[in-house]
Amino acid sequence: MAKSVLSTSALRTIVTEIAAEMAASEDRGNVAAYIPELACIDPHRFALAIVTPEGEVIAAGDADMPFSIQSVSKAFTLAVALGQMGEALWTRVGREPSGDPFNSIVQLEHEQGIPRNPFINAGAIAVTDAILSGYEPREAIAHILEFIRYTAGDDEILIDENVARSEEATGFRNAALANFMRDFGNVTCEPAMTLGVYYHQCAVVMSARQLAMAGRFLAFDGCLRPGGSRVISGRMARQINALMLTCGHYDGSGEFAFRVGLPGKSGVGGGILAVAPGRASIGCWSPGLNAVGNSKLASLALEMLADRTGWSVFAPH
Ligand code: GLN
Repeated sequence: MAKSVLSTSALRTIVTEIAAEMAASEDRGNVAAYIPELACIDPHRFALAIVTPEGEVIAAGDADMPFSIQSVSKAFTLAVALGQMGEALWTRVGREPSGDPFNSIVQLEHEQGIPRNPFINAGAIAVTDAILSGYEPREAIAHILEFIRYTAGDDEILIDENVARSEEATGFRNAALANFMRDFGNVTCEPAMTLGVYYHQCAVVMSARQLAMAGRFLAFDGCLRPGGSRVISGRMARQINALMLTCGHYDGSGEFAFRVGLPGKSGVGGGILAVAPGRASIGCWSPGLNAVGNSKLASLALEMLADRTGWSVFAPH
């Protein structure tokens, strides 16, 4: 289906129908119990929100319910780090899919502490360390939060300190990754400081509506709307989208690209930010995860959305 034939009301019907189908689904996956604060989230939640080029928001389900964005934050910190240090960031992190779980350590030793990409935990920790260099942790956290608030156009977005503390107390594997990279010189700050900032970025709380708003700069070539205020260069937005498509779902990235055909970034809170370039920024949330740690129903809902709208980076515009 071409863009021109999709009216707002047709889009609204599609979004409402998908939300209703997802609400009725019995097989919802499992919430991320390894972060104690996330273990108690109700798996029956589902939200879908879309922002159009005109700035209209089409939303259904629990679209205003806040959730922990977790690794979705890595798309924003990548933009912040690229803005801060430009191409030099790529000496510290690669641009290849890892094919391994998000928290894996195995490739790091062979590859001298340079993580495969900025979206696996090791890569995101290196990116956060780059942002932190020269700042106090609270300044870096404030800077990241400011960026997210600006992109979302919403100053109410907050960080859940309980989630950050909960991860700080139990994140032994992330501590291993940070210390390992510290030894290779690819974490330059005190690992505990870098991890503190990383846990706070993961603990940002947003609704699907806010997430869809925050993703506009990726959907509209670096701007908040086509031809509107510029957040990052168009080239940089396209590069982040390319990485979201190839690496945004860890070892489920190939499957997501195959099924959905849109760049996406998932988090273990059950959120996914997806981008239909030039057409929509999409926030989707359901807390139950599949075996590789991506939201089961949000992935399915995005597949349905792509199917019913015809949106795909592989389809002609
Ligand atoms: N904060 C989580 C962690 O570091 C983020 C992981 C994720 O969302 N995939 O384990």
